[in-house]
Amino acid sequence: MAKVYHDEDADLGILEGSTIGIIGYGNQGRAQALNLKDSGVPVIVGARADETREQARGDGFETCSVKEAVERSQVIMMLIPDEVMPAVFQSEILPGLDRGKTLCFASGYNIAFGLLVPPDGVDVIMVAPRMIGAGVRQRYVEGRGFPSFVGVHQDATGKALEIMLAVSKGIGTTKGGAMEMTFAEEAELDLFTEQGFGPAFGQVLLSAIQTLVDAGYPAEAVMVELILSGEFAYSMEKIVELGFFPQMELHSHTSQYGSMTRSVRHMHPQIAESMRGVLEEIRSGAFAREWEAEQKAGLPVFNEMKGLRDLHPIAEWEKKTRKAFRMGSV
Ligand code: NDP
Repeated sequence: MAKVYHDEDADLGILEGSTIGIIGYGNQGRAQALNLKDSGVPVIVGARADETREQARGDGFETCSVKEAVERSQVIMMLIPDEVMPAVFQSEILPGLDRGKTLCFASGYNIAFGLLVPPDGVDVIMVAPRMIGAGVRQRYVEGRGFPSFVGVHQDATGKALEIMLAVSKGIGTTKGGAMEMTFAEEAELDLFTEQGFGPAFGQVLLSAIQTLVDAGYPAEAVMVELILSGEFAYSMEKIVELGFFPQMELHSHTSQYGSMTRSVRHMHPQIAESMRGVLEEIRSGAFAREWEAEQKAGLPVFNEMKGLRDLHPIAEWEKKTRKAFRMGSV
């Protein structure tokens, strides 16, 4: 099994005298900045927009431009969207990135696919929470940890591992467990969840909805049964809390019998086959190249597909059902 680090493996002392520069104050930026500050680490926030800086000042941070934050910090936390990172790196970060500094990523994507190449002489580490920013903050405040994937890509100072562990502890992830892996493994797993598991699961859900609607059940009732009641989401929570099989005990004997005897009917080898195809595209770098080209072309496919998804009948069924159950709009 890959190594999992905990609080006792990390020492915040290695960061003594260092300033951490948070680049970007969004989902992860705000949460990680607040957690590091509450862990006693000096933090400055480098942000682009005036409103963003104002928000960070309101949270008690000293703010400045991205360039200045890089110049003044020993550890630079790359917390802007992955797709803008390579360009911002070249123009705003590289000029102030002196030897001996540390670049910390919350995702392995740009390094794994060669879209951003840091210079020799700097440490390159990763602390990638498996959680949205709000969860990173909430778990820290509650004194609970959360899982992350962590790693060292480049160790120029000989201290990269210790710095990575200290940053992980400051963010609060080693209270749960920080699992060591390469940047490529992190990026590939992340993309597979988004492109393999997520959409396959979405297709199963859409087929279930369509099957019931075609069989004559009112679409609104189907939406409540399968999604809006929250029953399935509750089961997912229990899978996380108790385990995949143990949570089955929470369901009635009728439910367990029906589920166990029928599950084999839904085992389609084509699903695993299409997932393997998706994984291969990710691992070969073909997806990263396709996405880079799409962005350069001005996102034509992305925008077209976003338009199409609003035309799916489920969008209207969901809207109506949410209204009927006073659930607010999506
Ligand atoms: P966000 O989209 O929330 O980042 C928004 C911030 O980035 C804002 O402060 C914005 O500034 C700044 N920004 C955007 N474009 C630029 C630019 N061109 N120059 C300077 N600043 C810019 O990012 P996330 O927090 O979602 O992602 C950050 C990293 O964390 C990524 O590597 C991502 O993969 C990783 N990650 C994200 C997770 C998540 O929960 N979203 C989970 C785990 C990892 P302004 O306010 O000026 O627009």
